[in-house]
Amino acid sequence: MTKMFKIALPDGSVKEMPEGSTPADVAAAIGPGLAKAALAARIDGEVRDITRPFEGDASLSLITSRDEADALELVRHDYAHVLAEAVQNLYPGTQITFGPATDDGFYYDFAPTAEHGAFTEEELPAIEEEMRRIISADKRLVREVWSREQVRDFFESEGEAFKAEWVMELPEGETITMYRTGDGEEAWVDLCRGPHLASTGKLDPQAFKLTRVSGAYWRGDPKNPMLSRIYGTAWLNKKQLDAYLVRLEEAGKRDHRKIGQEMDLFHLQAEAHGSVFWHPKGYLIWRELEAYMRRRLDAAGYEEVKTPQLMDARQWEKSGHWGKYRENMFVVPDEIPSTEDDAAIFSGDAELMALKPMNCPAHVLIFNQGIKSYRDLPIRMAEFGCCHRNEPHGALHGLLRVRQFTQDDAHIFVRQDQLVDEIVAFCDLLDSVYHDLGFDSYAIKLALRPEQRYGSDEEWDRAEQVLRDAVAKAGRNTPEYGWAELPGEGAFYAPKLEFHLTDAIGRTWQVGTIQADTVLPERLDASYIGEDGQKHRPVMLHRAIIGTFERFIGILIEHYAGKFPLWLAPVQAVVATIVSDADAYAQELAAKLSAAGIRVETDLRNEKINYKVREHSLAKVPLLLVVGKREAEEGTVALRRLGSDEHQKMMSVDEAVAMIRGEAIAPDRRA
Ligand SMILES: [Zn+2]
Ligand SMILES: [Zn+2]
Repeated sequence: MTKMFKIALPDGSVKEMPEGSTPADVAAAIGPGLAKAALAARIDGEVRDITRPFEGDASLSLITSRDEADALELVRHDYAHVLAEAVQNLYPGTQITFGPATDDGFYYDFAPTAEHGAFTEEELPAIEEEMRRIISADKRLVREVWSREQVRDFFESEGEAFKAEWVMELPEGETITMYRTGDGEEAWVDLCRGPHLASTGKLDPQAFKLTRVSGAYWRGDPKNPMLSRIYGTAWLNKKQLDAYLVRLEEAGKRDHRKIGQEMDLFHLQAEAHGSVFWHPKGYLIWRELEAYMRRRLDAAGYEEVKTPQLMDARQWEKSGHWGKYRENMFVVPDEIPSTEDDAAIFSGDAELMALKPMNCPAHVLIFNQGIKSYRDLPIRMAEFGCCHRNEPHGALHGLLRVRQFTQDDAHIFVRQDQLVDEIVAFCDLLDSVYHDLGFDSYAIKLALRPEQRYGSDEEWDRAEQVLRDAVAKAGRNTPEYGWAELPGEGAFYAPKLEFHLTDAIGRTWQVGTIQADTVLPERLDASYIGEDGQKHRPVMLHRAIIGTFERFIGILIEHYAGKFPLWLAPVQAVVATIVSDADAYAQELAAKLSAAGIRVETDLRNEKINYKVREHSLAKVPLLLVVGKREAEEGTVALRRLGSDEHQKMMSVDEAVAMIRGEAIAPDRRA
């Protein structure tokens, strides 16, 4: 008698299926529509091939293109196989290695033959063509279990040294699977954990594109041979692909490094990896942003401090950073080298010092000066603190990932009973700042305890609950605010709330954070005298709104595509002349604007006005005031706005000055 398995479906029903049957059979039994739409199966939580037979009683849910994340991952992995097969068809002798799915597609690393050398982007269209041919041939993808030696012998006989090497290193006892694409002569085989779709015909031949080629070392090790990596992007259908390509192009146009150069805002160079050279115009944005943040913090009851850049190792040991964080710190010997070559080096009392990677310990040291009473709390200590963290050069990226950065940092020392209200006040301040800076949408996430951590489980329970309660009290634990909890993502000393901005093209950026920490006050022995006359530990809230100035300005540049609101624009207006007869009038006008606090430049060059207009719009100057002979005689200006289709507007000088002054007011200063 055939053995029967009980297969539980998501709707609660149970199907009896004979041994040897597959999720595809269940789909077919439910109906032809589902049989066609089903891409793979989730068996007891694990994604598997739809044609892989059941191994016993199981719970089953079928994956269709509506389960977008699962479907994309499957499809992208399939494309990687199709890419590898296409390359081997076109370039015999090329060896295969690995080809995973990525966030937007897939890649595959190849070892090209010595005669061919690395692949080039010119070869991609032909490879795409061959991939489309394999897709339209609708070849079956079949999972087979092989022994380790079988796999090694097979790859050795095929001249595939990399795969043969890899399979012998897989852990003992691991089930080794090969995926065969197609049958007979046409078959192509790769060592792979799966899962895969049932056949190549399930892919949309118009939903992928090969994007670029780069070098990559075998197993990521520079001592190993250099491979040739081909990248592709892949989606469920052409519409998704097209939308992605538009987004990519839009992101490219907004790249802050490109705009930063066009607007002359900053530069980076190899002599100071990861540290920014701010040019005058870029630093004007910084100064406006810093002044704005300072006003908001002053008004919210913060006190600003400044703390040392270098502190010695003993302090970092006490704070716990030396143990957990040292690999990211710049350590310097506390020595004064002699000017004479072989003479002695004079050492101070500490052997090693480190540039601060964060401001927190120094703020506790300020708190610890003098006795604090419960009536002194909360103490909100702010610092635009310049910190250094050592990161590999390869990880650095423009303003977005740097090694020297300035945080809008603050620490709030509070009693337990003040915690929730302080966090609510912070959430309100942050909300108002984001709106002022032009971000209407952001998400709030609660990052919970990580595996490696200080402190007891009860402390973590309490700290996590406080953050939950505060967000609820602020009325923001809702889908509108993208509220979610992220297990394992907290810092080693505290859980945290994360605030993720959504920019103008829908990308998200984590910038704001607040953490309720009891560990550091304990380690550094911070205390206050309570109402009961006893010593108590304050809780320390670590918090930032914009995160770091460097990264936030990078995000602002991309969000606005360089077209800053007037109050942040480094050059707010240019007065440009049509004829040299208007030079004196232009200078007079610029002086009036400047006296009204407007950042203005003049353009008196002997160039056509259209040329000047084009140049200043490329430099993203928000306002252009055009003056010629007639304007000089009548005391008027012709005003043009960046990116506006409206014709220029004529107005009197006084009107223009008043209007621009009104628009250039920072949002927190508007009535
Ligand atoms: Zn695979
Ligand atoms: Zn901190």
